[in-house]
Amino acid sequence: MIWLSPLLLEVLAEGADCAIGVSGGKDSQATLITVVAWLRAQGYTGKIFAIFADLGRAEWLQTRSFIEALCLSLQIELVVVQRAQGDLLDLIEQRRETLADTAPFWPSSAARYCTSGTKRGPIDQNLRRFRLVISIEGIRAQESDARAEKEPLTVRAAITGKRYRDIPLSHVWPLYQKECRQALEYQQLHLFDEKSSENLALATLPRFALTWYPLFNWSVEEVWQACGTSLAELKERRQLYQEGTIRQDAALRDQALTGWPAHPAYILGARRLSCSLCVMADNMTLLAGAIHQPDYYRTLCWLEIQSGYSFQSGKWLCDLVPTLLTDEMRSLLEQHPRRQHWLEAQAERQKTGRKARKVLPVLSR
Ligand code: SF4
Repeated sequence: MIWLSPLLLEVLAEGADCAIGVSGGKDSQATLITVVAWLRAQGYTGKIFAIFADLGRAEWLQTRSFIEALCLSLQIELVVVQRAQGDLLDLIEQRRETLADTAPFWPSSAARYCTSGTKRGPIDQNLRRFRLVISIEGIRAQESDARAEKEPLTVRAAITGKRYRDIPLSHVWPLYQKECRQALEYQQLHLFDEKSSENLALATLPRFALTWYPLFNWSVEEVWQACGTSLAELKERRQLYQEGTIRQDAALRDQALTGWPAHPAYILGARRLSCSLCVMADNMTLLAGAIHQPDYYRTLCWLEIQSGYSFQSGKWLCDLVPTLLTDEMRSLLEQHPRRQHWLEAQAERQKTGRKARKVLPVLSR
């Protein structure tokens, strides 16, 4: 069952434009499939489209074609947006330049500028085209404690008119409806051409945007089911692919991927998408990204080597698959004072069993 509320149903009944965010990951895939089917079953006549924020070089190579095929199979329009000043890698490099290697520059859970800069920002920019719009996203409570704290329906403050932003959601909708009625009445008094006057009247109203998480209460198994598969099938296919890798058997690897209805990165070992190497990913996901996108892996490793700041706190991408690095990269890494200091702190911690000092002194390069 998708998450619904009387207020949401009223906004939909008003014909709000529906933008369904897709990243290539399972949650957004399940959201797209489920919501499109549900809206069509309701006879929805408003605009429905998928929106993909392309992260550029950070994306899995298969993501764009996977999303295009998915949207084509559902007969749904796909809108692709990108950060105007460059892709995610550019954004990370720009952040490093700004900080001039005096502080860590990588995105993190505390400084998630990657998402705001390359996903939310460009998507919001696009949604500004609409007067009444719902951004539909595949966020689920089960994913983390932080996500469980969220509300499944909220005002999208960044693109909602100021006077609708600062009042409770239950009051915003009646206010918006009242202002729509007043605007229409005013136009009817002053213009004779009713059709064009209706559009003109509503265009003077501030934008009202909502964010809706329809799969908020779903389990991971329900998500896989909506994608047309199951956790058990994923496990089997992953094992088959691993076997194909160990035996260097391309046919086995192909067999693992053939007929798989979700993003192929899951079979390659990724547990989460969308970046092939994400600052918040677990080791298994990072390993899959590094092995299958070695050029991007090496690019990020160069940033570690040049700056002396590790990709994740206390975890260096360079240590993940050292065989993918060149001799020059390995030697430069070990020479960096910050890296040396980190290695010494690690050694001290192992020796004494104590926690290494958290605050590292600022070292020159
Ligand atoms: S996948 Fe990870 S690194 Fe990429 S934008 Fe999202 S949080 Fe940032």
